Amino acid sequence: MWSYQHPGFSVYQLPALNDNYIYLIDVDNSDIMAAVDPADAAPVRKVCRELGKPLTHILNTHHHWDHTDGNKPLKSSFACQVVGAAGDAARIPEIDIEVSEESRLQLGGIDIRIIFVPGHTRGHIAFLLKDALFCGDTLFGGGCGRLFEGTPGEMWSSLSRLAALDDATQVYCAHEYTLANLRFARSVDPDNRDLDERISSDTRKRMAQLPTIPSTIGIERATNPFLRPADNEFCTRYATLHSIPTDALSVFTHLRASKDRA
Ligand code: ZN
Ligand code: FE
Repeated sequence: MWSYQHPGFSVYQLPALNDNYIYLIDVDNSDIMAAVDPADAAPVRKVCRELGKPLTHILNTHHHWDHTDGNKPLKSSFACQVVGAAGDAARIPEIDIEVSEESRLQLGGIDIRIIFVPGHTRGHIAFLLKDALFCGDTLFGGGCGRLFEGTPGEMWSSLSRLAALDDATQVYCAHEYTLANLRFARSVDPDNRDLDERISSDTRKRMAQLPTIPSTIGIERATNPFLRPADNEFCTRYATLHSIPTDALSVFTHLRASKDRA
């Protein structure tokens, strides 16, 4: 487990299943302990027991089992409340609090902004607490989620909204896919110096069995090929090479399809 300090709360990062991360948000001076996307109940229970702080909330970014399988067992252990997208309530197991972008959600005095980011699934949401972004399977380190239920246009606009957040925003995504993503990134963005640096530093982290996550919005904007279509030069170069229109959406669509085939 790794932990990170934010103003007013701590984030604990728990590896789960093969390559998932579950996050615990421990709000200072309160009884609030929230789990983001509990793939599995066991590691969450263990940490709550060690810290002597029972789980009060579960925040689900989307309905996939590797993000929600812990809902039911955790609810029976802790009587915690499950927060999920109102538009996808039928598919979020045990949901108690249905939220949308307009919801004013607060946990222990910390404001939580809900960002609707469809694309991977049609009801996907992200949670922003101050400078901490919990984005599930929408934005990954060096990549983005597959388009299971959404269109490239929806995903591009979701990613663009996340990319517009402050550079220093910490990106707590739900999977450790970074190195594989960066291999693809290099193949489509070979002259990117920031990307070379990121590959060296993230490779070193993995060799030391450390997570590459969280990254930051600034790093993602500079190196993530699925955010790079916002850069005109990248767009023109990529579009010319593949003989496609030079607009960002066409380039994003082509990149996502190539990654699916890779
Ligand atoms: Zn998913
Ligand atoms: Fe997932």
